[in-house]
Amino acid sequence: MTSIKPILTDSFGRGHNYLRISLTERCNLRCSYCMPQEGVTLTPKPQLMNAEEIFSLAALFVKNGVNKIRLTGGEPLVRKDFPDILSRLSQLPVQLSLTSNAFSIDRHIPLLKDSGVHSINISLDTLQAKRFQEITFRNYFDQVHQNILKLIREGFNVKINAVLMKGINDDEIIDFINFTKDYPISFRFIEFMPFDGNKWKRDKTVTFEEIMKEVHKNFSTDNIIRLDDAPNDTAKNFKINGFEGSFAIISTVTNPFCDTCNRLRLTANGQLKNCLFSDKESDLLSALRNKEDLEPIIKKAVIGKYAIRSGMDSNESFEDLQNHKKNRSMITIGG
Ligand code: SAM
Ligand code: SF4
Ligand code: SF4
Repeated sequence: MTSIKPILTDSFGRGHNYLRISLTERCNLRCSYCMPQEGVTLTPKPQLMNAEEIFSLAALFVKNGVNKIRLTGGEPLVRKDFPDILSRLSQLPVQLSLTSNAFSIDRHIPLLKDSGVHSINISLDTLQAKRFQEITFRNYFDQVHQNILKLIREGFNVKINAVLMKGINDDEIIDFINFTKDYPISFRFIEFMPFDGNKWKRDKTVTFEEIMKEVHKNFSTDNIIRLDDAPNDTAKNFKINGFEGSFAIISTVTNPFCDTCNRLRLTANGQLKNCLFSDKESDLLSALRNKEDLEPIIKKAVIGKYAIRSGMDSNESFEDLQNHKKNRSMITIGG
């Protein structure tokens, strides 16, 4: 395994061995917390990375110490050349994983297995079909639900991500946890985060404290087990005694975990983002096409990374929506 090279180490000593690559800005769902109601202006196709460019950029990061790549989007599976992209990336010495809404994942199961993808994160914000349609504007609950069960049966390591929003799905916390009773999955509650166009309000976010209060109301303290978190894990992990699976909370809003951040993001149009909340990007795709030396560009981006949430270290600055205006909508970043 290649050790993390200085160009991927920031001024706080954090080494970045994890690259999240967004394959597309498109999606077959319209989750209200992610996709602005008015839609997003899509980048014209010639300005998006093609399969070969994705491979070249990924290989450069791997050469410099990245050993984990997650494919995301938009919905990565809507890209017609997804099989080609995945097959190419599977030649690299990295742990490959995927974040998807699972709508069409059943078609890709053999490919995912052949490409060495074991770990898959799926978005599912409700266990109720009608509510699924209200949140995603699509009537796909049954298909998504069936596909999640299929992935579990096929032996994938499945994590389910639910963005909790007050008055929308926060009454399902215990139902979600009960879903882990018979399945070896991790149900992860993500605090609703502000991005351009997603109508975020602080009081819509369901916080770590509020989730745990609900858990303690329904399970005895003896039965709530705090699990060890993996190194660089963004989630605090728990388990109910006797349940097969576990649950976790990702608290970017109330308790960010930036001190161990090891991740960089590459957008579908080839821009490197050093933080989820950064409004500064480095254009790797143009540089690649112009045959420029990319390493100094990457080094500059990484060294410029702030300690916490792209400089929004106080609650006041993070909750000021003006500070998110220049960042992208989540659908064009990739989560
Ligand atoms: N389409 C895929 C999916 O939904 O899993 C991958 C892309 S999606 C942008 C990646 C992750 O971002 C999902 O788990 C989604 O729940 C999360 N996400 C999107 N908008 C968010 C927000 N405003 N706050 C917190 N998480 C968000
Ligand atoms: Fe699509 Fe995923 Fe965003 Fe939902 S969260 S709109 S599935 S990209
Ligand atoms: Fe890393 Fe930025 Fe997320 Fe903090 S907010 S964990 S620095 S990507």
